Amino acid sequence: MHRLENLGERIAEADDRAARRLQELLDPSVSHTWLWNINLRCGSRMCEEDFLINISSRLGAQMVGEDAKCQLCGELLDRSVGHGLCCARSEATRGHYAVVSTVVDGLVTVDPGVRTEVSGLVPSADRPADILTTAGVPGASTAIDVTIAAPDAKAAGKDACATAFRRKMTRYHHYFPTLRRQGVIFRPMVWSAEGRAHPATSRLLENAIRLFRNRHGLEEAAAMRRRWRHEIGVALQRRKAAMLRAVMPKHSARQVWLSGGGLDDIHGQLPAISAAEEDMVVDA
Ligand SMILES: [Zn+2]
Repeated sequence: MHRLENLGERIAEADDRAARRLQELLDPSVSHTWLWNINLRCGSRMCEEDFLINISSRLGAQMVGEDAKCQLCGELLDRSVGHGLCCARSEATRGHYAVVSTVVDGLVTVDPGVRTEVSGLVPSADRPADILTTAGVPGASTAIDVTIAAPDAKAAGKDACATAFRRKMTRYHHYFPTLRRQGVIFRPMVWSAEGRAHPATSRLLENAIRLFRNRHGLEEAAAMRRRWRHEIGVALQRRKAAMLRAVMPKHSARQVWLSGGGLDDIHGQLPAISAAEEDMVVDA
């Protein structure tokens, strides 16, 4: 542990983003099973491209050249493309819905009435519930708002999960009495983009797992927890890979083949070398 702390200090001096990433990854709530699961019976696997991007990011590898610019906003990219987690909004939204869906997959095993995108809970167009379930908090319906926070964002503060949790509580605070009258309590469910869960998130998941344990026993519940954590972890990592990919310079089909080995879908052949690449070959 002492060595790890020293390593953390050395990284903190050299690279602020890397220090934050290491801090996130050391948290016990992070699921790392996506790194080694190859058996589909044990859970989802990422495609090779997503896997390689996430491994590179985790190691802080230099994924782009020194002068590479963001494909979305034109800003100069940091070498490990952490910028993507603050910039790629469409991919963030798509990934958010995938995480919601994975959380629901687990909740539905103990609450068949779980609902998503619930409208009409408050007298406005706001929807304070990505998920409405009786499995989140004992004795109440819980309006769960799923948020995935970027640790590198300017407004993230020292703890991106705590900041996002507070922001959501403040945003929906004036609806609490209305929700309470309907027997509903509001809970943000926050992860960091690296996969760290806010303590309230872990409590919500554990409440659902406790209900599962009451019905199916200790052993089944432990296996279910393992599978659920894995699936949520994969959904978070897929979101992250999509966000990083969106801001990175695009690769030619030939370069994609070199990195992943996938062949042209239609012809099953090696992708042709582009004119620019041919020029480089001739020049060499
Ligand atoms: Zn950008």
